[in-house]
Amino acid sequence: KSRFADVTLGPPIEVFALNKAFADDTFENKVSLGVGAYRTDKGQPWVLPVVREVEKILAADETLNKEYLPILGLDAFSSAATAMLLGKDSAALVENRAFGVQSLSGTGSLRVGAEFLARVLGSKYFYYSKPTWENHRLVFTNAGFEEGREYRYWSESTRGLDIEGFLEDLRKAPENSIIILHACAHNPTGCDPTQDQWKQIADVMQERKLFPFFDSAYQGFASGDLEKDSWAVRYFVSRGFELLCAQSFAKNFGLYNERVGNLTFVLNDTSYVPQVKSQVTLIVRGMYSNPPSHGARIVAYVLNNPKFYDQWKEHIRTMSSRIIEMRKALRDALERLSTPGDWSHITAQIGMFSYTGLNTAQSEHMIKKHHIYMLRSGRISMCGVTPSNVEYVAQAIHETIT
Ligand code: PLP
Repeated sequence: KSRFADVTLGPPIEVFALNKAFADDTFENKVSLGVGAYRTDKGQPWVLPVVREVEKILAADETLNKEYLPILGLDAFSSAATAMLLGKDSAALVENRAFGVQSLSGTGSLRVGAEFLARVLGSKYFYYSKPTWENHRLVFTNAGFEEGREYRYWSESTRGLDIEGFLEDLRKAPENSIIILHACAHNPTGCDPTQDQWKQIADVMQERKLFPFFDSAYQGFASGDLEKDSWAVRYFVSRGFELLCAQSFAKNFGLYNERVGNLTFVLNDTSYVPQVKSQVTLIVRGMYSNPPSHGARIVAYVLNNPKFYDQWKEHIRTMSSRIIEMRKALRDALERLSTPGDWSHITAQIGMFSYTGLNTAQSEHMIKKHHIYMLRSGRISMCGVTPSNVEYVAQAIHETIT
């Protein structure tokens, strides 16, 4: 008998199953609103021009070699990424009590951070928003946490944030629990706390001694403004919190498959830095030994060179504006069709995703009848909506609801 004979089939991963179903569909006007990747007005993937340019420079640079990077990655990358997150003048940086570790995109940074918290600090519970990015639970559980718990976040009835439920659940969390917070552009709801609500969240977390682990997958991509999209993280740092933050460069640099990420640590005293770094080094050494260099070199080159930095900022404005325009176009089209319900949430939400409010049966109907591929939760990726399909998408939603 094979040793593998009793292995059971695991559950499918919804977005990837959806992608495959989309690829297999032969219907001419099919629309893919599942996966979170930027698309141009023509529905095509986009390699940022500044990335292409820097790749040519790097390819021509014969001083670069293929030796291993240090275990904690390329310093020129992680320093620049940490400064981009916290702001160059951040007290934590000036006082040398913050540092970054290059890791494997957002997911890998979350995983390294989670392992550090579970194994080194002995953290037991992690809390994630209901709903959240579907991978948080798996990443933190595999990292060694005892238990994951939800905090209330989304209110179906208001199609907005349930701040009272959120705060109440935080108040009930045991001390030292890890609270996963989306830095901006909450996935999947597209609904972020206001600045005043962030202050209330910080108050409760400080009082209850809860530990923030920010997930920053969309800095600059959400609003087009790097400062605005990092406001919450910077605010927590200014309040004196110690925290972790996982940064992804998949969306804002379009470097999805290069796996470029940074894990920022903010401590309250510089004297703890060497010990913390040495423990992170052991975690990485035992997991993947050291990170890949290509994507990190690109990002480091751009962030450390004002001319390219400005060009990149132009690109993030292009991407975020296209998404914002498509939100307006979809809402307009639904209102023109007099589709029952209030569609203002489509433009109120921010970032790549919109929580449409369609239920599971309606979302499945969108796939089966209209060949519009979306998550069963009603989440759509706004990047998949284009000037040429927005009318079709709106009509499909209209037909589904009426
Ligand atoms: N966190 C959130 C909230 C996300 O939406 C994503 C990507 O969809 C990630 C983390 C991680 O992405 P990656 O590992 O590709 O950087």
